[in-house]
Amino acid sequence: MPRVIAILNQKGGVGKTTTAVNLASYLAMRGKKTLLVDFDPQFNATIAMGVVHAPNETIYHALLAGVSHEKVVKSTYLTNLHAVPASADLAGALIELIEIPDRELALRGFVEKAGGAYDFVIIDLGPSLHLLTVNALMAAGEVIVPMQCEYLSLEGLGQLLQTIELVRNNLGHHLRVGGALLTMYDKREKLSREIAREIRKRFPHHVYDVEIPRSVALAEAPQYRKPIMLYAPQSPGAFAYERLAEEVIAQMEGAPEVPIRYFDGSPGGEAPPTPPVPPPDYPQRSAFDMGAGESLS
Ligand code: ATP
Ligand code: MG
Repeated sequence: MPRVIAILNQKGGVGKTTTAVNLASYLAMRGKKTLLVDFDPQFNATIAMGVVHAPNETIYHALLAGVSHEKVVKSTYLTNLHAVPASADLAGALIELIEIPDRELALRGFVEKAGGAYDFVIIDLGPSLHLLTVNALMAAGEVIVPMQCEYLSLEGLGQLLQTIELVRNNLGHHLRVGGALLTMYDKREKLSREIAREIRKRFPHHVYDVEIPRSVALAEAPQYRKPIMLYAPQSPGAFAYERLAEEVIAQMEGAPEVPIRYFDGSPGGEAPPTPPVPPPDYPQRSAFDMGAGESLS
């Protein structure tokens, strides 16, 4: 059975697609048979990988239009990497899925059929928490949460963790948090360093050792429809995603969950860290305040 990993963060533009495409590529380069599933109606991963497909051969058509899973699994530049494209049609799936029984399990059914021959299935998600997200989390065994090393990156973290808990508790699905991944890290910027440190303290699960640097080559590669390993393999971004693939491979599936750390002053809990002083032109609310109703405890 493959390790199925969903790339999750309801915040837009934090590096989910960049992570999905490049993690999948380096897993494949390491000899792991990998299937990249684009599950975002923006279909950015499909574009970034240059996946060639007929208009009716997408994940939407496999889930809701009776197209066979064999038809939607496409080859890529890399021998060990296959991809399932998405299209804007997937936005319609949100409405159509509501009508069907087991609406949370449609993608899991697909992955069970299509994913058997793979070591890894990587699911790229869009910037929202809705039925498509729940479908991906029910299909996945693990999640990776890319977090941008920028102001406000921890906003909404409570809601994200609640969604994971909902899937675990209300839907009874054992979902492991693989970890948070620091993205767009600029070690020359004090704010970036402070936020990286803050995420390492505040994220209640594992945080990957590697930090994905802000890198022009990573931003350029999708324009050429290539993963970074084919566009700029010697760039810092390429090395970072290669290291991430190594860390992910090294993580044992089913390994004991790193215990959740709480910040409520309870025995063993940690005192809340002092947030950095925001620059004067930012709103005065702390970047590390949870939103209304959001809580880690
Ligand atoms: P969405 O929520 O819209 O799906 P996303 O979380 O998938 O967005 P990406 O599309 O991966 O985010 O990245 C957002 C933008 O930032 C893209 O233009 C991408 O090329 C760029 N980008 C991502 N990671 C980096 C990086 N490490 N350095 C520089 N640019 C990056
Ligand atoms: Mg994306």
